[in-house]
Amino acid sequence: MCGIFGIHGHPAAAGISHLGLYSLQHRGQESAGIVATGSELGARASRAMGLVSEDLQGRGGGIGSGGLVGDIAIGHTRYSTAGSTTIENAQPMLARFRDGHIALAHNGNLVNATELRRELEDEGSIFTSTMDSEVLVHRIARSGAEKPEDKLGDALAAVEGAYSLVVLIGETLLAARDPRGWRPLVMGTLGDSHVFASETCALDIVGASAVREVEPGEIIAVDRDGLRSSSPLPPQERRQCVFEYVYFARPDSRVFGGSVDRARRELGRRLAREYPAAGADLVFSVPDSSNSAALGYAEESRLPFELALIRNHYVGRTFIQPTQAGRDAKVKVKYNAVREVLDGKSVVMVDDSIVRGTTTRGLVAMVRAAGAREVHMRVSSSPITGPCYYGIDTPNREELIAANLTVDEITAELGVDSLGYLSLDGMLESVPSGPEGFCHACFSGDYPTPPPADPQKLRFGCGC
Ligand code: 5GP
Ligand code: SF4
Ligand code: MG
Repeated sequence: MCGIFGIHGHPAAAGISHLGLYSLQHRGQESAGIVATGSELGARASRAMGLVSEDLQGRGGGIGSGGLVGDIAIGHTRYSTAGSTTIENAQPMLARFRDGHIALAHNGNLVNATELRRELEDEGSIFTSTMDSEVLVHRIARSGAEKPEDKLGDALAAVEGAYSLVVLIGETLLAARDPRGWRPLVMGTLGDSHVFASETCALDIVGASAVREVEPGEIIAVDRDGLRSSSPLPPQERRQCVFEYVYFARPDSRVFGGSVDRARRELGRRLAREYPAAGADLVFSVPDSSNSAALGYAEESRLPFELALIRNHYVGRTFIQPTQAGRDAKVKVKYNAVREVLDGKSVVMVDDSIVRGTTTRGLVAMVRAAGAREVHMRVSSSPITGPCYYGIDTPNREELIAANLTVDEITAELGVDSLGYLSLDGMLESVPSGPEGFCHACFSGDYPTPPPADPQKLRFGCGC
């Protein structure tokens, strides 16, 4: 998964993008980057591995005089996937072609990237990264269309899968969303400048006002003459990722036109109705991702919400855990239990999702060791039974606990007294503008596209 940001018509475009990326850090921690243009220096890129705060500002190509200057910029934060943690895969990409430059930042996964790349390679194209997104840059460069938005439309015509994009072609900023609208993308204004971001929290931090969503299938072009909208791609049924509401987006954001906080609280309330915990003393979350859902559960069940797990916010991504023993240790590095809250109590532990079950098992053991008498696990999404091909880096089916075990078996495996997952209907009815128009493939098996020819390669390639 990734976060994207774009701005046109602001003298401090790179600096504002940098600020915007801070609020998109949760969408990707592997690398961050900015490309700026609009000055006599042309298009320049600054990309670095790690967090936005770590390196981006200080590098040779940093923001300011001689570095990233100009009034147009795009930015990207990239999520990690095994095997592809290299600077070559950091975005935005920047390439030169006959008409100038193309820079591109992508959130999502292209399902037919392998085939498209093979076609290009057969015709002699060479690639500098293993990312699916690079095929878009080639396809834009090969278009014979005049207008930048038509070049992008041509490039996207044969592309299947999930993409929210910000693109620079010369001094035109383009924003585009795939026809199913898998990933969020919002448009805003900051004074006279136009701003685009994955989530509204990135507009808030720069002081921009949200205007509207980029619509599924829409391409918006912004240049010195103003803003143009077109929808050149055949329409498809909407398939917005429900997992954005469940886990991925920040609760202070609005995505897909709805509040993430409201969605998560409703998921929690609905979970409390579907799976009450009679006789429990208190409710707690696994911070931070399930805080809002746990509040909703506590509210609905009229139980106190307590802070029973404390998360260490300084655990870096550098903590490597090649073995199971290492993963268990990682749980202890990241969380600790508060004995004074848990001792002797029957407790409800709310989490937003269970993927492998590794973290959850470690947490349950920790909560019991801190004295909890009964542990009732409640999950504010349905069991994840399949991988995601559309931009969330869930593991293979073999590693997904709910793809391999029944709920009773998972209950035993996690060591909890009871386990309740929110139903699929309950999940879809809890999110704003649900239940239609959402992708729920990893929960239901109802994939909107055929699976990619080579899912492993796709994961290796982007995982954006
Ligand atoms: P598990 O018990 O499956 O090992 O971990 C469950 C935890 O992983 C939950 O707290 C959930 O919020 C979190 N989680 C769910 N999806 C993702 C993801 O895509 N990436 C990361 N880093 N954590 C996730
Ligand atoms: Fe979202 Fe799951 Fe669909 Fe992937 S498969 S887009 S995570 S709902
Ligand atoms: Mg979590």
